[in-house]
Amino acid sequence: PFFNQKMDQESLPPHVLIFPLPLQGPVNSTFKLAELLCFSGLDITFLLTENIHNRLISHTNINSRFERFPGFQIKTISDGLPQDHPRKGSKYMELFDSLKSKTKPLFKDMLTSGWLSSDGKRREVSCIIADGVLGFTCDVANEIGIPIFSIRTISPCCLWIFFCLPQLIESGEYPFKDDDLDEPIKSVPGAETFLRRRDLPDFCRTGDLTDSNVQLYKTEGQENSRAYGLILNTFEELDGNLLSQMRNVCPNIYPIGPLHAHLKNKLSEENNSMPPSSNSLFEEDKSCINWLNNQLPNSVIYVSFGSIATMTKEQLMEFWYGLVNSKQRFLWVIRLDSVAGDDWKNKIPVELAEGTKERGYIVGWAPQEEVLAHPSVGGFWTHCGWNSILETVYEGKPMICWPYFMDQQVNSRFVEAAWKLGLDMKDTCDREIVEKMVKDLMMVRKDEFLERANQMSKFAKKCLVEGGSSYSNFERLVNDIKSFK
Ligand code: UDP
Repeated sequence: PFFNQKMDQESLPPHVLIFPLPLQGPVNSTFKLAELLCFSGLDITFLLTENIHNRLISHTNINSRFERFPGFQIKTISDGLPQDHPRKGSKYMELFDSLKSKTKPLFKDMLTSGWLSSDGKRREVSCIIADGVLGFTCDVANEIGIPIFSIRTISPCCLWIFFCLPQLIESGEYPFKDDDLDEPIKSVPGAETFLRRRDLPDFCRTGDLTDSNVQLYKTEGQENSRAYGLILNTFEELDGNLLSQMRNVCPNIYPIGPLHAHLKNKLSEENNSMPPSSNSLFEEDKSCINWLNNQLPNSVIYVSFGSIATMTKEQLMEFWYGLVNSKQRFLWVIRLDSVAGDDWKNKIPVELAEGTKERGYIVGWAPQEEVLAHPSVGGFWTHCGWNSILETVYEGKPMICWPYFMDQQVNSRFVEAAWKLGLDMKDTCDREIVEKMVKDLMMVRKDEFLERANQMSKFAKKCLVEGGSSYSNFERLVNDIKSFK
């Protein structure tokens, strides 16, 4: 009977355990990878912390999306924190501590007890894909001898800075010796010619080596290089320079992005009518598409700062005056919760109300991918979240960048200086600068930016078709997974 059991196991598809970082953004991107792997015939167990699972299931169509894949299952694990713990803001780091001390032994038990394959319909876990920040998953995988891949869903340019933190500290460049944020940074190979202090991730500005972010990310490089390979949401033609630097630390990298479009392509290849999983946390106001339908090609600047960024009333006014004074047409997402207090709504200056009525349209949340694909949209003023950047690059639109936090400070510099896809507005909030940048992007330097953006969009589309870089890297990933017995 033991022999038979073994034979049966081997006739089953490889079984991959996926463990994303338990935060909304990384979970969304990792679901896209899971769906792609399901299409390749692999069995997937997707591991969510109970907390994320409860929030996700009430918000999204995940369960029905994966119904058509019998080899897909969701399992939950405790993150070790009490139910009412906020898991964000100043309490955010407690999540990492708890995952390491409380979740790690549960994770190991889960893998060694055979529980994940106890239904007899799937093999024991043949490999793990886990977020690179969850270093304890590498400890466990290496202890029990299961191959593990890391996935990182943030921008590779920021990840590379995390990798370089030890050198930045060793060379004395970080913490900064004075408050001149324009000083160049030299210890990040591949970005020596354009990186400044102000372009490092926002937590670097505290200059505190004991800062928990610095402590966490300092170990990044070592953690990721312990895995068999590193999966990234980018493509060779965008990040090739950086990837070749990164390969000195992690030789086996799989750039398989842009993931949102990779999955969309797969769905259309399979003639699947299911729309790609929505990462919308808010209700989309589709009326803006009708408004866009009535505008001239490339005439509208789309403005949105993602799902988390907030602004003060003063910033809102500077942005608004800048936009109206630029005399360009604009579609602006102002999330209900994005401006502190809502008394501004009753005090909109007449000139802004009139300018907006004439040339603008404001919504609470937009169908962003559809907006970016719309021919009337000629540019995007963004907070530079990595998903927004990839969506924009794919659709071939130039950007103005107003980064808010984390990797966005790095991304915005890369948009302007490395990829030459737009303008970086970081650390300013002034109506005259807004007006000038909007005019530069939409009129003065329009052709130059559009040409560059079109070129990159062509690369982004090409890398996803058969023979393209991300397409081939994904095939290589699936073959490597299948090779693990
Ligand atoms: N998004 C959207 N409608 C909006 C604004 C954003 O659908 O009005 C989507 C956008 O397409 C992207 C995600 O929300 O996929 C934002 O992710 P990103 O990484 O850019 O920023 P974050 O919200 O994590 O700061």
